[in-house]
Amino acid sequence: MSEDLVEQIAKLRRELNAIILAHNYQRPEVQDVADYTGDSLELSRKAATTDADVIVFCGVHFMAETAKILSPEKTVLLPDEEAGCPMADMITADQLEQEKTKYPGVQVVCYVNSSAAVKAGSDICCTSANAVQVVQAIDRDRPILFVPDQYLGHYAMRRADREMQLWPGYCPTHMKIGIKDVFRKRERYPEAKVLVHPECRPDVIDAADEALSTGGIIRYARSYQGSTLIIGTETGILHRLNKENPAVEYVPITKRGLCPNMKRITLEKVLWSMTAMRPKIEIPEEIRRRALKAVQRMLRL
Ligand code: SF4
Repeated sequence: MSEDLVEQIAKLRRELNAIILAHNYQRPEVQDVADYTGDSLELSRKAATTDADVIVFCGVHFMAETAKILSPEKTVLLPDEEAGCPMADMITADQLEQEKTKYPGVQVVCYVNSSAAVKAGSDICCTSANAVQVVQAIDRDRPILFVPDQYLGHYAMRRADREMQLWPGYCPTHMKIGIKDVFRKRERYPEAKVLVHPECRPDVIDAADEALSTGGIIRYARSYQGSTLIIGTETGILHRLNKENPAVEYVPITKRGLCPNMKRITLEKVLWSMTAMRPKIEIPEEIRRRALKAVQRMLRL
């Protein structure tokens, strides 16, 4: 059945001149059917440069929106329109405008996990892979407001040695990773390195060996000389790690680190979406143009 689905998807991909992009947190079978798997930064770069006519985005809503911001002439499909990101929904464009009035001359750095309308109200975008670099690139004499993830903001603030105002958003999935999970796994695997995502809480980041984006975790694993790695992020990444570098044993820091929104995309929905050519991502042009400036400023760095 699944083979049949894969074949049908491959056939449609050729007919539509489509490209399938999948985030590292997607289900294994969805990652396997994709042309490219990566983190938000890698996928947005791919979306900006592809010559496909249709982008099938296997991820959550803000990721598909970012692809549309970069490639407005292409059809961007999100196989389940309910696949949202609770963190991105923690700030609206109106709330952002109101917050900006508190800090004259403020520069807004928005994590890519935000709506197109919030990006449109921001000066520069960032991902977990480049947040520190983005913050460092901002004039030292300008106040910075970081939205919506307080923990990525806190991480970037410390690494870049800059004061910032942090919007109190968070990722409900990474919140489930606790300091006790780090201690338990260190006790059980004393030789292993602990890698966590910068969306984790500061105490978890401090107790880990490295805080890395999912792309960073995959690169770290490629050159790792040890036998075991403890992985502190959404468990979907384990599939790609095992596939690319099976010599290392990967242990999830907790099995609770699962994002239900990322798991909404299934092969059946990918096929249905490519057949019906919906749900399509649409963004009002005025918002898209302003959001594009913030995304392009990040990509230029
Ligand atoms: S893992 Fe967290 S930040 Fe990523 S899509 Fe899920 S809820 Fe949003």
